[in-house]
Amino acid sequence: MPDTAKIPPPETETVTSHRIACDGGEGALGHPRVWLSIDDKTGWVECGYCDKRYVLDESKG
Ligand SMILES: [Zn+2]
Repeated sequence: MPDTAKIPPPETETVTSHRIACDGGEGALGHPRVWLSIDDKTGWVECGYCDKRYVLDESKG
């Protein structure tokens, strides 16, 4: 069995607000804080710095 493309899925966080701030968290992934707006059409947004994906949980709210 070929052992290729061991790329882990992007980190995902479920949020309940359309507007969230990301600073990459602690450690090596940290970056200047940026504000992200979740698009209603997609329901998620990806941070341009750390590629973390924020998914809107519409079941809450
Ligand atoms: Zn980030």
